[in-house]
Amino acid sequence: SEHDVYQSVAEAAGDGVRQDRVPPVVAVVGRPNVGKSTLVNRVLGRREAVVEDVPGVTRDRVSYEADWSGRRLTIVDTGGWLPDATGLAAAVAEQARLAVELADVVLFVVDATVGATDVDEAVVDILRRSGKPVLLVANKVDDAATELDAAALWSLGIGEPHPVSALHGRGSGDLLDAVLAALPEPPPPTEDAAGGGPRRVALLGRPNVGKSSLLNKLAGENRVVVDDVAGTTRDPVDELIELGGRTWRFIDTAGIRRRYRESQGADFYATLRTQSALERAEVAVVLIDASQPLAEQDLRIISMVIEAGRALVIAYNKWDLLDEERRHYLEREIDRQLHNARWAPRVNISALTGRHVDKLVPALDTALAGWGSRVPTAKLNQFFSALVAAHPHPVRGGKQPKILFATQADVRPPRFVLFTTGFLEESYRRFIERRLREEFGFAGTPIDITMRIRE
Ligand code: GDP
Ligand code: GDP
Repeated sequence: SEHDVYQSVAEAAGDGVRQDRVPPVVAVVGRPNVGKSTLVNRVLGRREAVVEDVPGVTRDRVSYEADWSGRRLTIVDTGGWLPDATGLAAAVAEQARLAVELADVVLFVVDATVGATDVDEAVVDILRRSGKPVLLVANKVDDAATELDAAALWSLGIGEPHPVSALHGRGSGDLLDAVLAALPEPPPPTEDAAGGGPRRVALLGRPNVGKSSLLNKLAGENRVVVDDVAGTTRDPVDELIELGGRTWRFIDTAGIRRRYRESQGADFYATLRTQSALERAEVAVVLIDASQPLAEQDLRIISMVIEAGRALVIAYNKWDLLDEERRHYLEREIDRQLHNARWAPRVNISALTGRHVDKLVPALDTALAGWGSRVPTAKLNQFFSALVAAHPHPVRGGKQPKILFATQADVRPPRFVLFTTGFLEESYRRFIERRLREEFGFAGTPIDITMRIRE
């Protein structure tokens, strides 16, 4: 059901199940005009990271994706947050509170030529209580003479001041090294899902929809002798098939050809088989018998694909059995019943006659492309700024959750993390997903949206 699709959103909102996939967040905090955005630009530019600053984007919610010495990072310039807070001190304090909630490391920027102000001291209190790693940046140290001003900032009691000239670059290399040292340990590298080799396809569907017929049709003369393919291990349960000039690995074809259907508990084994095929597959082709009404089991299998986060192609099989009336009715049925997978490419085929079986490869390509696609952070935040401005979250109980910034934490499937000031209700998250799809495509892939909330 639709709930399944959004279940992961709610789960992650609750306990942050997937936080390990989010690159560490470095938040830059400080009074206005101390040089926060100059520092962010300096740091990004120096390392030739992806800087995609978009003109015309309001300064709030600005986050950048960076790659420092092979670590992916999200850098957040908190400069424009919460313009509605009353008074400078309150605004900066609130900004600091948000930053420590969201960030893994905080860069606290002070203007060394001005020295520590009351506002700076209030921020120090907040930062110190948070227990988060904080690096004190003594900015505007343009020359050796100003180094003394930087040293004076030891008095803030938050550790060593790092003298930097954000404007000229002085000291920024040392600062970066200190940031890297303060970051949490990187998670162990995840297995590369694409991993070279043939793309991995699971043929799924309830008994008698035509899986083995389709497999035989596809394999035909296209079956590849395993030993001929470099870098593939012999795995007798799978089959390598050449389609559209490329080799594809069809998962657990032995299981498709084996027949459980007479035995008791066939359903149980079918579900088990589907589950384990999905674990190894990148993309699933879910076959549906077009000559029959859509069954609960069809929907369950589609939900399993979405839950597993795999790319999805829906194949309506036995198209040769349809008369005009049924065909007409089917379109409406699909629209109504498959609404949680409207994004999946669809092919109408006949495994028996071979009708449109050649459309399978383009559909697989589309789905795999969507599954692996990434939206640049700046583009994403530009999109969210516009979206939130035009359609703000409804006010609930006098509060209106804001989206501070967003980042795409992962691909295969695309996973987005929204940093928010409150819980976004389900209808709004659905709206966000719909607009994300309209804007960026993502045909053939589930997308996952999680929240990191600071209540
Ligand atoms: P923010 O409000 O904290 O983001 O500050 P900005 O980055 O907008 O900088 C405020 C002003 O300080 C700008 O005029 C900058 O050119 C200037 N500035 C920033 N960093 C330095 C620096 O290292 N040295 C000097 N001399 N000026 C700086
Ligand atoms: P599986 O249980 O999903 O592997 O389904 P099978 O491939 O064994 O097919 C079940 C039955 O449907 C067999 O009698 C097939 O001949 C028939 N069948 C499969 N595909 C088609 C099709 O496209 N058109 C028609 N008319 N029959 C089909």
